[in-house]
Amino acid sequence: MAVTPGNTFLKTANDLAGKISDLRRDFHRHPELGMQETRTSGIVAEHCRNLGLDLRTKVGNTGVVAVLHGKKNGPCVAIRADMDALPMTDDKTVPYASSNPGIAHACGHDANTAILMGAAEILTRHSDLLQGNVKFIFQPSEDTVPGGALPMIKDGALENPSVQGLLSSHLMPDYDEGEIIVKSGYSTISSAGFTLKMLGKGGHPAYPQLTNDPVVMAGHVITAAQSIVSRRVDPQDPTILCFGSVHGGTAGNIIPDEVVLTGTIRTLKPEARDELAALLDEIAAGAAKIGGGRHALEVQMEYPSVYNHPGMVDEFLISARKVATPDQVIHTDRPTMSGEDVSYFHQQAPGVRWLLGIRNKELGFMYPLHSPLFDFNETVMPLAAAVHAQAAADFLVNRLEKEL
Ligand SMILES: [Zn+2]
Ligand SMILES: [Zn+2]
Repeated sequence: MAVTPGNTFLKTANDLAGKISDLRRDFHRHPELGMQETRTSGIVAEHCRNLGLDLRTKVGNTGVVAVLHGKKNGPCVAIRADMDALPMTDDKTVPYASSNPGIAHACGHDANTAILMGAAEILTRHSDLLQGNVKFIFQPSEDTVPGGALPMIKDGALENPSVQGLLSSHLMPDYDEGEIIVKSGYSTISSAGFTLKMLGKGGHPAYPQLTNDPVVMAGHVITAAQSIVSRRVDPQDPTILCFGSVHGGTAGNIIPDEVVLTGTIRTLKPEARDELAALLDEIAAGAAKIGGGRHALEVQMEYPSVYNHPGMVDEFLISARKVATPDQVIHTDRPTMSGEDVSYFHQQAPGVRWLLGIRNKELGFMYPLHSPLFDFNETVMPLAAAVHAQAAADFLVNRLEKEL
C-alpha cells in the first residue's frame, strides 16, 4: 500500500498502528448490540480521558462525545464513528473472533471506533496545528433502526461547541485496500420497510364465486409492482423495490382471508421514497379491486439519504491527497445502496462520509459487509485515522478563510 511519505499525521498514525489494531481486536472479540455498547463506550471514554479531552458520556444512551480544544474562538469540526455490532454469528477462526455468541462486528464498526480513537490521539499530539476545536462523536446503534444518531443530536452532541462540519468513514469491501472513496451529493439511499395486507374473504376452493381470494391479489401485486421500477420511475435514479416475505393461508384446500407481504423500498433521493410508496399503494389498490377485496399498506420510513456537501467534498479530496497517493483517492459518482443514519447529522451540519477500501483477495478479505466471514487487513486503519486528522485540521483552517 503506497502512501505519501512525510505526512505529519500519517507518521504519528503509523506510530500508533499497534495500539489502533489492539483496540479494534478487543472490540471485535467483545461485540455489543446497539444501545448496549457499555463496555465499548467505557473503553472509548477512558481513552479520551487519558488524552485530556473534555468528555461527556451517556450521550443519547451509550454515546460518548469528547472535545479537543485547539486555539481559542476557532470553528469546530466533528468526526463521528459508530460502535454497534450485529445480531449474527462470527464464523471466522481468527484469535480475535467474537466471544459473544450470536453477536459479531460484521459491519466494521469496531474499526470505525478504533480509527476515531486513533484520530483523537493523533490530533491531541498535534493540537498546536489546530485552528479551532475538534469534537469526537462515538455513536451507538447505527445498524438498528431508528438508530443512535437522532438520540445523540437530541442530547446536544452537536452543541457546546456547535459543529460547523462533520466527517465520518466506513469500511467498503467493494474497493481495493487503502483506497479513499467519496461521492458528492446523495451518497447513500433512503430506505423504508413496508407491510402490505391484501384482504379478501376466505372459503372453500370448490366455491370460488363466494370468496375474494387474497392469494390471487397478492400475486397481482408482486408482478405489477415490478413495473414500478421498470416503467414508472426515472432510470437515472437508482431505485429498489423488493418483497422479502409473503405469508397467507393454512392449507392447500382453504382460501384464506388475508395475505401479508413485507418488503423494502430504497431510493437515492428522499422524495423519491415517498413517490415509490405512493405507487405501491396505487398498484395494491388496483390488485385489490381486481379481486374484489381491500388492501392496507403501512410504510415505516428508515434512514434518509446521506447528502455529502459538494464544497466540503472538494476540500476533503485535497486533504486526503496530502496523506494518500493521488491514485488512491477516488471521487466517485456511484452511490452505495445501503442506508446510514449519519444522514441525520448531515441534516444539522454539512458533512462528508467517505469510504475506506479494504478488498484484498490475496489475503482473503473480499467478503461483503454483514457476512459472517467479513474481515479486513488492519494495516489500513492508521491511513484512515490520518486522513480524518488531516481533513479535520484543514477544515478548521479553511473555515477561518471562507464559509462553505
Ligand atoms: Zn451495517
Ligand atoms: Zn456499518
